[in-house]
Amino acid sequence: LVEVRGLHKAFDEHEVLRGVDLTARVGTATALIGPSGSGKTTVLRSLNVLETPDAGTVRIADAEVDFGASVPKVQRRREVAALRARSGMVFQSHHLFPHKTVLGNLLEGPVQVQGHDPDEATAEARSLLEQVGLRGVEDSYPAQLSGGQQQRVGIARALALHPQVLLLDEPTSSLDPELVGEVLAVVRDLAAQGWTLVIVTHEIRFAREVADQVLFLDGGVIAEQGGAEVLTDPTHERTRQFLSRVL
Ligand code: ATP
Repeated sequence: LVEVRGLHKAFDEHEVLRGVDLTARVGTATALIGPSGSGKTTVLRSLNVLETPDAGTVRIADAEVDFGASVPKVQRRREVAALRARSGMVFQSHHLFPHKTVLGNLLEGPVQVQGHDPDEATAEARSLLEQVGLRGVEDSYPAQLSGGQQQRVGIARALALHPQVLLLDEPTSSLDPELVGEVLAVVRDLAAQGWTLVIVTHEIRFAREVADQVLFLDGGVIAEQGGAEVLTDPTHERTRQFLSRVL
């Protein structure tokens, strides 16, 4: 479902991604782990083209962009729009519209952008809120909710766009410790329901529990990959060192 080949990205002189390859199959959860600055967020943002890679291909389902190819601008815009439409992004902090209610936030994408029927979208938004354990907050404004609730609204909002893959960028890193559990529980549920997830996370125990695939990124390349055994029984010294620091 998700296939990345030869991804390169530099910010000025700083080469952040130096040839990243990854494959995530339908219905699996992939955890991207690694030291600070190793490029995890840049990989995730490249999948959604929030960062434009310098080279490499990204394919999600039937949409593919070859960032190294020179194609006419109009064609590139169309390819990027198609690729973006296939993923939903959950950010470190929720990025909700502060002046819109929870329901308004959930309807923005499906109704304003995708042009779906407002009544149907509203019914679906309510059911998504229920799914993330947030019945009854439709008319609240983001500032009236806790950080954990805001983050769960962020997840529901990403799901409202019917993505084929959900991208989560350290979804609990901005939360107070007592709120982390409720957000991880929602992600755990999504994994159990068969959503395809790619998660950048520092929560190694959580990754061990939900991830079908673990990718250890170091210095802009995937240094080790495999199943959850990467977290319990790593082969590479760098992975071992990293885990001994964070566990
Ligand atoms: P962390 O765990 O700290 O979030 P990360 O592995 O997700 O780190 P990235 O956020 O992908 O790492 O960043 C990789 C490197 O790229 C860092 O050195 C960062 O400073 C740099 N970088 C990221 N985004 C930009 C940008 N927009 N402009 C310049 N440098 C950037």
